[in-house]
Amino acid sequence: MNKGKITKVSGPLIEASGLSDANIYDVVEVSKDKLIGEIIEMRGDVASIQVYEETTGIGPGDEVVTTGHPLSVELGPGMLEKMYDGIQRPLEKLQDLAGEFLKRGVTSTALDREKTWEFNPTASVSDKVEAGDILGEVEETSVITHKIMVPIGVSGTIKDIKAGEFTVDETIAIIETEDGDKEVSMLQKWPVRQARPSTRKIDPDEPLITGQRVIDTFFPVAKGGTAAIPGPFGSGKTVVQHQIAKFADADIVIYVGCGERGNEMTDVLNEFPELIDPKTGESIMKRTVLIANTSNMPVAAREASIYTGVTLAEYFRDMGYHVALMGDSTSRWAEALREISGRLEEMPAEEGYPAYLPSRIAGFYERAGYVNTLSGTEGSVTLIGAVSPAGGDFSEPVTENTKRFVNVFLALDKELAYSRHYPAINWMNSYSGYIPLLKNYYDMRLDGDLPDLRIKYLDLLHKEAKLNEIVMLVGEDVLPDEERLVLEICRVVKVGFLQQNAFNPIDTFVPLEKQFEMLKTIDNLYERGKEALKLKIPISVIKNNKLYGKVINMKYDIENENLKKFVSLNNEINDFYVELASTYGDVE
Ligand code: ADP
Ligand code: MG
Repeated sequence: MNKGKITKVSGPLIEASGLSDANIYDVVEVSKDKLIGEIIEMRGDVASIQVYEETTGIGPGDEVVTTGHPLSVELGPGMLEKMYDGIQRPLEKLQDLAGEFLKRGVTSTALDREKTWEFNPTASVSDKVEAGDILGEVEETSVITHKIMVPIGVSGTIKDIKAGEFTVDETIAIIETEDGDKEVSMLQKWPVRQARPSTRKIDPDEPLITGQRVIDTFFPVAKGGTAAIPGPFGSGKTVVQHQIAKFADADIVIYVGCGERGNEMTDVLNEFPELIDPKTGESIMKRTVLIANTSNMPVAAREASIYTGVTLAEYFRDMGYHVALMGDSTSRWAEALREISGRLEEMPAEEGYPAYLPSRIAGFYERAGYVNTLSGTEGSVTLIGAVSPAGGDFSEPVTENTKRFVNVFLALDKELAYSRHYPAINWMNSYSGYIPLLKNYYDMRLDGDLPDLRIKYLDLLHKEAKLNEIVMLVGEDVLPDEERLVLEICRVVKVGFLQQNAFNPIDTFVPLEKQFEMLKTIDNLYERGKEALKLKIPISVIKNNKLYGKVINMKYDIENENLKKFVSLNNEINDFYVELASTYGDVE
């Protein structure tokens, strides 16, 4: 039977019997309101179903009908600039978020069925095509060309292909296959819990440039890579995610607001459309899809939202785009998993999370990658998840398990945030595993060895941390001048380089070239200072406030498009120490 009756309702979870023909992961319609649910467990003819909508008013005896299909998204022109809930229902207005939900059971489609798009074929009649090959293009927004691909599972010879204005479900091509003619439209469906295929994964060897110095220079993320941003409440996770969404050199951004407070998503909605993409001069929404499941929305839809997001990301990847997905926060997603597992009365593992928490986290991050697409181009999905451990305790299960499966760990720190060191990414316990893969990219594009300088300054910062322990005990005066110089230079690194104001128009985004020039300038200041120390010049003179102040302020004083100012700044540093040396030489 594909029809059953509810036997039990427990919040977002219901149980129904009489569903002998249903399968696990089938989507079902619940009650005459046709609420959307998904079977997450089958025992005989009894199904446990998570319902993506409020279940109030639903009770035993109500009917449940399986659709026979897994939870899927619609893929095609019209997703960009949109905002969806966790199961891809369009949220048209702010009030949808603020509490006035979509009417329950309303099945407004993810893609508009009325709107027409101009389809320009790039393939021709009698071409042999396979799954993923490109049939034609639609100018979806002023900055993104949507490639219409042969659906997965279809291959054959093009018998007919059209040009002109079509709605997403009208036929644009007929493909003659072994099983007869297949009519193809611009609309495809894909089950969210299954990764979309590609030809193969390749090593990511290009950085995702975020314009954030501490990330790009010290803990870079690769295109097609994985990163976690753990941190306690208020430490700046959302600001970092927003900065990446706004400025990273990804073609497409999928922003999944997962279980965070409603007003955070309203901020995104108000702010993002106003933001101008520095690359295109257009609103960043033209390359963005927002997926919102705030804490006041049903918990099961939150569980689904990251899969919906990553499926959309893979689809754009398959067109040959570089896609960045932000998940804020994956902890809220894991909590949804925990709540549903609890209601299923599964045996809890650590802190009440189900035993399959690690495999679910791994399964999500495994969908990142830099790939050869089926159509023979390259594309990538980069996954960047915020993690919000209670009290900032990184030993809790979600943070620990996320750490196992990501290659970049950007640890946000309460102390740094309190002292207004933003972004509060702690350089002592953050890391990136991508440096060896990115080395060639740096060598080709930068004047100098960035990985080398990076290690030099990470080491110096670690040394500073040790010195600070001594300073706490006995004060700075007992340290030899070499070590006091280390403290002074590290202060320049922290204030002048690592701190970056997201709200300052010049500092909010900094290209990699400028980041490297800044670090090289600090290095020049350090090396000149060391030479001066050898001439027995006292640290109090070497550390010239005016000169150090200038270096600290270079982030504001040297605009992104004016990098030649670094030459005069470095000349000024050199001149200062040459003169100092001659003065001291004269005295001796
Ligand atoms: P979380 O998401 O971790 O709870 P938020 O991202 O909302 O924290 O950040 C909290 C506050 O910290 C922001 O509202 C902002 O005032 C400040 N902040 C965080 N990062 C920065 C930054 N890079 N530049 C300036 N201010 C920042
Ligand atoms: Mg936040």
